Amino acid sequence: MKIHEYQAKEIFARYGVKIPRGKVVRTPQEASRATEELGGQSVLKSQVHAGGRGNAGGVKVVRSPKEAEDAAQQMLGKNLITRQTDAKGVPVNELLVEGLADIAQETYLAITIDSSHRGPVILASAQGGMDIEEVAAANPDDIHTEPVDSTLGLMPFQSRRLAAKLGFSPELARPAAQAIHALYRLFVENDCSLVEINPLIATGDGEIVALDAKITVEDDSLFRHADLYELRDVSQEDKLEAQAADLDISYVSLEGDVGCLVNGAGLAMATLDAAKNAGASAANFLDVGGGATDEKVASAVEIILSDPKVKQVLVNIFGGILRCDIAARGVILAYKNKNSSLPLVVRMLGTNVDEGKAILRDSGLNVTFADTIAEAAQAISAAR
Ligand code: ADP
Ligand code: MG
Repeated sequence: MKIHEYQAKEIFARYGVKIPRGKVVRTPQEASRATEELGGQSVLKSQVHAGGRGNAGGVKVVRSPKEAEDAAQQMLGKNLITRQTDAKGVPVNELLVEGLADIAQETYLAITIDSSHRGPVILASAQGGMDIEEVAAANPDDIHTEPVDSTLGLMPFQSRRLAAKLGFSPELARPAAQAIHALYRLFVENDCSLVEINPLIATGDGEIVALDAKITVEDDSLFRHADLYELRDVSQEDKLEAQAADLDISYVSLEGDVGCLVNGAGLAMATLDAAKNAGASAANFLDVGGGATDEKVASAVEIILSDPKVKQVLVNIFGGILRCDIAARGVILAYKNKNSSLPLVVRMLGTNVDEGKAILRDSGLNVTFADTIAEAAQAISAAR
């Protein structure tokens, strides 16, 4: 789960990481007043769950309260499209009005989980402020990677080494190492999957300040972080993904037009690949899970059918704990509830497969059966 920059910054402050003075506003008048309180100039920052705001007009420097009001009028209530959003963008309902920082140096710092190392890894680069993906592609050596042993925790020599890689002047090595230590503690205590600061700056008068703040909390840990879960902002989430998450269905919206219902994440990945190889492309990843009931299958298929991109549906069920007859009933229920007539390609194998197929055959739906994933992929491709 992602949270907003201002929420992340409040958490940073609690851990002793310096942040600029600022205030969250929801109206142009509030933006004007907040700018006045900050001495007449400020930075207005769109609060959205996406990076790349600076390049997309989502971060604006204003030099007077009136300018703040006008800029806020332009920004609030619109969708912001950045390179990290889809073509629709995400709604801007709040702005963070921040004091203008005196930036002497911009660096990059992030903590994430590295699955190959099986633990947290800290990334540091002196090339902050700009597109870190570009630095990674063009000059990968400019990004220092420090794996952390999660049993030992972050060792002092590691935070010192990271601080050195940020390239601050020697006087700032100690406060930088302290900030890195605090952020690591924050990362662990809040079960984060990402903490990212781009840019982490040195100011003209020698302070280390987090000018941006991203925190992603691991979804599977939210049950023990009620306070963090309260920060959820569904307005920033894909509607169908949010609906699926509430039903405990793994669903990711994609760009294609073939809706996919699969049980098992590995099978779902293989299904997407097969569709792609056959020249089609999936509208979603969906793993309905093992112990699904026909109602849960129906909810999953309804999510698929609610996606206007979807032109046909591919069902790929390996009937084990989820029996084929249950899957078949669920699919039919969803088609009935959504009053849909989209073509359906079904590949089913395993427990109660004959019964499942018979139920679908008798349903009156426009079904094509396939025996293998490859055949199923050919069938969806042929139907396009
Ligand atoms: P994003 O990463 O989404 O583009 P940032 O918060 O990093 O958004 O802001 C983009 C750029 O705007 C920063 O790299 C920095 O140069 C500038 N900026 C952001 N906040 C401030 C601030 N309070 N004072 C001065 N400049 C800022
Ligand atoms: Mg940034």
